[in-house]
Amino acid sequence: MSAISPEDRALRCSAYDCPNNWSVSREGYRPLCQYHAWEPQHEWPRITEQLLREIAFKSGKVTTPAKHLSPAEKMEILNRLRTVLSASSRENMDHKAWAKRLQARHEAGQTLSQNQIRCYRAALRMTDAHDEGAAF
Ligand SMILES: [Zn+2]
Repeated sequence: MSAISPEDRALRCSAYDCPNNWSVSREGYRPLCQYHAWEPQHEWPRITEQLLREIAFKSGKVTTPAKHLSPAEKMEILNRLRTVLSASSRENMDHKAWAKRLQARHEAGQTLSQNQIRCYRAALRMTDAHDEGAAF
């Protein structure tokens, strides 16, 4: 960061490198900005980075805005990611899983559209050389 005068420094949030002036003064804490004041200290560097990125974004230096997430939003994103990753790691083992699911449904007597039947048969033939006689 560029050098700032002692007067300006006195107004600054106490978190290292934070570009904001302080706005929250709590017993037992140095004065902090609204972004740092309510977060645990180990999160401060990440918050500062987001604030600096936001400034860079507003000045047109970067193209992705920083986003402040609440703990609930973070948990939701992590849970969604976990679901997607566990589903995709299962699916990644077999890229034809969808076709096999359709085939299993068909063989179990479920009614599929001609298009579904054609697609799963085409997909399974491509890798498995799996060809049943057409039973339409
Ligand atoms: Zn701050």
